[in-house]
Amino acid sequence: MKEVTINDKQKYLDENYPFGEVPKLTDEKCCIHCGNTITVGDYKVFIDDLDSELIFCPNAPECDGTVIDWLPVDYQKSR
Ligand SMILES: [Zn+2]
Repeated sequence: MKEVTINDKQKYLDENYPFGEVPKLTDEKCCIHCGNTITVGDYKVFIDDLDSELIFCPNAPECDGTVIDWLPVDYQKSR
């Protein structure tokens, strides 16, 4: 995987976030792949083997979770 440097992280997120409501860079999410609480603004962008540019967990490439694997932090608390 090749890492892509993003200069304007909020703009990139606005344009590439796959769901309806774009989170703030200061929001926290729970990554279900590595189980860590992550800060949205720490995300990384990689180009995967299929040439797709994806928003990854801040713990990538050790963690292979992407933006779709992030859940609200409340999810963790309520378990
Ligand atoms: Zn992760």
